[in-house]
Amino acid sequence: MQPPAISGPEPVMLDTIASFHAHVYFDGSAEREIALQLRAAMSARFRLALGRIHDRLVGPHAKPMYQVGFDAATFAGFVPWLMLNRRGLSILIHPNTGAERDDHLEKAMWLGDRLPILHAETLAEKSDAPIGVNSINTDPHLTA
Ligand code: ZN
Repeated sequence: MQPPAISGPEPVMLDTIASFHAHVYFDGSAEREIALQLRAAMSARFRLALGRIHDRLVGPHAKPMYQVGFDAATFAGFVPWLMLNRRGLSILIHPNTGAERDDHLEKAMWLGDRLPILHAETLAEKSDAPIGVNSINTDPHLTA
C-alpha cells in the first residue's frame, strides 16, 4: 500500500545547525547569584563556551543574562541537566543556523517563563558569518 501523499515544504535538515546557545536570564541580586552558581556547576560538567555576564541589556535579550555555546553532541546531556537544575530561571535555547531571526523566534525553546525577544526586526534573516562554537573554554571534571 502506498503511503498517503503529503505535500508541504521539505523538512529542514539537522546539519543546518552549526551550534546551540543557551541564554540564562536573571533579574535582581538573588537570581544573579543563582545564575552564577548554575554557571559554575555547568562549566564543571560540560564542554561549553561561556560568554560574558551581561548585567545590562544586550542584543534582543529582555533581561540581564549570559550566553552559553555548545555543540550538538553536548545537547543531549546538557539540556536535560538544565531542566533539572535551572532553579526557576528562564533559559532560552536556540540553534545557530545563520538565520538569526528564525533561530530566536521560530526555532527556539524555553525553559521556564518565556521572555520577549526585543527588536527582532534587527536580527539577520540570513547571515554568512561563521556560526560554529568558538573556543570551548572549560575543562569539565565533574559528573553530570
Ligand atoms: Zn544566542
